[in-house]
Amino acid sequence: MLNYQVGDIVTMKKGHPCGENKWEVQRTGVDIKLKCLGCDRQVWMPRRDFEKRVRKILVDGKFIALVNYKKEEE
Ligand SMILES: [Zn+2]
Repeated sequence: MLNYQVGDIVTMKKGHPCGENKWEVQRTGVDIKLKCLGCDRQVWMPRRDFEKRVRKILVDGKFIALVNYKKEEE
């Protein structure tokens, strides 16, 4: 299970056609809503596809591989 939530910034296997490859997670669930931070375009994709394509997550100012990211329990 990958750890991400609304408000996280992630990168994908492929960037957006506008040239940016930073996305803000805006909605989670069966479908994931993402906003491209280059052009503000919003896209939806099935969670299954999202979890195949997502690569890194921004944590404390650094991008790390999401597969290695374990959020600590509060
Ligand atoms: Zn874009």
